[in-house]
Amino acid sequence: MMYGAIEAGGTKFVCAVSDENFEIKERVSLPTTTPEETLAKVFEFFDQFELTSIGIGSFGPIDVNKKSNTYGYVTTTPKVAWTNYNFLGAVKERYPIPVGWTTDVNAAALGELKKGAAQGLESCIYLTVGTGVGGGAVINGKLLEGYGHPEMGHLLVRLHPDETYKGFCPYHGNCLEGIAAGPAIEGRYGKKGHELADQAHVWEMEAYYLAQALVNYTLILSPERIVLGGGVMKQEQLYPLIRKEFEKLMAGYVAVPSLEEYIVAPGLGDNAGITGCLLLAEAELKK
Ligand code: ADP
Ligand code: ZN
Repeated sequence: MMYGAIEAGGTKFVCAVSDENFEIKERVSLPTTTPEETLAKVFEFFDQFELTSIGIGSFGPIDVNKKSNTYGYVTTTPKVAWTNYNFLGAVKERYPIPVGWTTDVNAAALGELKKGAAQGLESCIYLTVGTGVGGGAVINGKLLEGYGHPEMGHLLVRLHPDETYKGFCPYHGNCLEGIAAGPAIEGRYGKKGHELADQAHVWEMEAYYLAQALVNYTLILSPERIVLGGGVMKQEQLYPLIRKEFEKLMAGYVAVPSLEEYIVAPGLGDNAGITGCLLLAEAELKK
């Protein structure tokens, strides 16, 4: 058995191959340019191996609805060269083997559930707070998808009383992503997040927003664990601040595990996505 994995991000693609024990044999990282150019490099890499199946976790929005005639397409992405691109189709045309297809964050949730910080559980949410905010989930062992896929980053949130920033989401302005992703921190303070590490109020405001989102995810999906990753979460002081704010907002209404166990850092670090793609390759083969 040899699994191929494509973690397709807006800035870079990570490709890997592994054996059936998910031991990574080889991996590459490629810049995301046009679809044709990027996939030519992906194919060059995978052509060296005899793959049995592939898993793709893609940036989006993407079409994950099997009933749709654009299933497998990247849809309304701000990366114009990829708009309405049949990504899954191109991979399947090259490799006539099972190919699993989901969002980058759903793949990361799967990785964390099976091999990372949510091992042994049946459900978890993975939220990345980086250039954007995006979330994926596995619920009762299944990736969370419906008519489309969740867009957990675009929740509407209550504004902090001291808020001065308008938000940068081109659709909603001050949705969660617009007000809490890395570029929002930079937009509000004129400095990058890592330069503001010692500014307590920066992280209190960040936690104020992220905790609201986590409360809402909890109320709707009731996951067993929430894993928070991405560049902004490198500010580790955020975890206790988010837990404290979460507790305040939930006000004891819904029981959750102890917050140290419930709101956690990734167990796989930056490998959550690629590991999830390998797991997706396995799942697709077993279907
Ligand atoms: P992407 O979301 O593009 O995959 P990242 O998860 O690394 O990439 O997120 C990048 C964002 O995270 C940038 O806005 C950056 O300023 C912010 N960021 C990266 N590292 C840190 C850090 N140590 N502290 C605070 N913010 C950070
Ligand atoms: Zn938005």
